[in-house]
Amino acid sequence: MATTPLPQLIQRILKEKCPFCGTGEAFEKKSFFEVPENHSHCPHCGHDLQGEPGFYYGAMYVSYGLSVGLGIITFLICFLIFGIESSTWQIGIVILVVLLFAKKNYLWSRLIWLAMFPPKKKKKD
Ligand SMILES: [Zn+2]
Repeated sequence: MATTPLPQLIQRILKEKCPFCGTGEAFEKKSFFEVPENHSHCPHCGHDLQGEPGFYYGAMYVSYGLSVGLGIITFLICFLIFGIESSTWQIGIVILVVLLFAKKNYLWSRLIWLAMFPPKKKKKD
C-alpha cells in the first residue's frame, strides 16, 4: 500500500492521475468512445504502471465491488429519495446508471488495484 494519505489517494484516483506522484496522467488520452490504455510508466515520476502480464486481472474484483456499490446507492436513492416503488423501474435505472459509469469504473478500478498492489520495479533509464 502506498504511503499516501487516503483522501489524497482517492483524489488522485478520481482525477485518473498516477497514484504514486499524483501529477502524471495514468492513461493515454483517447476519444470518448475508445478504451483508454495505461501508460507503461508514469510520464512524471517514471513509476511502473503496467506490472507483470495479467496484473490487472485482479482489478475485476474491484470493478465488481464498485458496480455493486453504485447499484446499491442508486437503488437507495430511487427508493428512499424519489419514492420509486416499481421494481422494473428500479432495475432499469440501476442498470442505466451502472452502464453510464462503466468507463469510469474501468479506470478507477485499475487505479485502485495499482494503489493496493504497486508493482516493484522502477523505470530503467
Ligand atoms: Zn507518477
